[in-house]
Order: sequence, then structure tokens, then C-alpha cells
Amino acid sequence: MADEMRVLPKGYTDTPLIPGQTWRVHDVDRPMPPVIEPGSNSTGAVFSAPPSDAHVLFDGINTDAWTHRNGEPCGWALVAGDAMEVTPRTGDIRSKEEFGTCQLHVEWRAPTEIYADSQGRGNSGVFLLGLYEIQVLDGYDNPTYADGVTAAIYGQYPPLVNACVPPGNWHNFDVVFETPKYENGKLMKPATMTVFHNGVLVHLRQEMQGPTQHRALASYAPPHGPKGPLVLQDHGDRVQFRNIWVRELDKLQAD
Ligand code: MG
Repeated sequence: MADEMRVLPKGYTDTPLIPGQTWRVHDVDRPMPPVIEPGSNSTGAVFSAPPSDAHVLFDGINTDAWTHRNGEPCGWALVAGDAMEVTPRTGDIRSKEEFGTCQLHVEWRAPTEIYADSQGRGNSGVFLLGLYEIQVLDGYDNPTYADGVTAAIYGQYPPLVNACVPPGNWHNFDVVFETPKYENGKLMKPATMTVFHNGVLVHLRQEMQGPTQHRALASYAPPHGPKGPLVLQDHGDRVQFRNIWVRELDKLQAD
């Protein structure tokens, strides 16, 4: 533990009510998901090979598939032989390739040095289409707001359970993301997210309220395009990522 611990807010009481729910965005009183222990075979202890039809976005060799959001070359560091690490304040990174409806696999781990709590501990994020965030956070024995804990659909839905492993261990996210459907600028079908955290189902085809917001309500207006990059967040913490791949599902779906 660091000499000086930063103590951060555990939620809010002044944010808007989420439509269809009884809770506010980042509600300080929203119950935390139950804590469970994931199965030992599913926590990334063993590096799993991608399927043959996957777009491999990071295999530990280089960060060539990525830029920062402004197009600058990826400034995150290669570490530990097979991983890359957030270089704080260099900014988010985005995949050069863009995807729509897809399956995503990503592994990550939080730093073992703990210098803050709540949202200041191992914070990062995985954004589908660069817009829809699954929260990356060291949520192991770390009180914070329920819709901001590890594997939350940030600001909208807590995970069904907290399947975190202690800091320093690898986590897996396996995600199926379905893009929203618009017709003439009007939303016809919301985006959905199915998420396994460390092999444990934490969101089942959850309809999303719109692209991720902080302390505000999500909305589908204005409409966005059918594809976008995968984005990894620089939230100032040295979170590491490895073994990142995407399978395009729109091409596989029946007509
Ligand atoms: Mg985040």
C-alpha cells in the first residue's frame, strides 16, 4: 500500500434517476453485486490462443494495431513479455480497425500498488464502438458505486456478481456486443451487451440506454455509425492488457 492513500467518493446523490430504474446514475445507495470467486480455470492463469477467425488486435509483440484517439502512434508500454500497460496521461488508445456487432476477448490486470480507493484503483475501461464502456477497475474488496464496479456497464447496470480476483492477477472479459439499429435517424433497437467476467456471466443480453456517460443519462441521440474502434481507457492507472481479439459477427449472422 502506498504511503498516502487517496480517499475518493463512493457514489453520488445529485445525479439524475436512470429511466426504468429506481436508482440514480452512480447511486451511492445502490446495493453492490454479490461477491463470488470465479472458477480457477477461467481467470487468465493460462494464456488462451485466439480462434482462427479472430482479428488479433494485440498478441504481445507490438501495438501496431492501435493509435491514440487523435491518431498519434500508441504510446503505451510493452511489458512482461506479452502485455501492454497504460502510460498515464498519454490518453486512450483505439484500434485502427473498426467493428460492429462482435465478440471480444480481452485480458487485463490491475497494479498491485494501491494508492487510492473507489474509482482511483486500477481504473480503465473497454469501449465497444469507442462509445459503450465495460468498466475495468480493481473491484476486489474496494467499495465504490455499483454501476461503476468491475464489469459494470458504466453508469447504467452493475454486473450480476462481482467476480474479481486480487490485484496482480489476470482478469478475462468475454463480450458479445450487438450494435443499435436506427432507421431514418430513429432508434429501432438498442445496443445489447452480454459479458462474462472471469468465465462468469455478469450481463445477459442487457439492453443499453445509449453510449456511456459520467454523472449523466445516456441517450441514443444523436445517432452514431454502425461501426467503431475498440477503445481502451487511460484513466491514470497502470493497468495492463493482453490477448485482445475480436470476431466480427455481423458477417456470420443469417439474413
Ligand atoms: Mg473506466
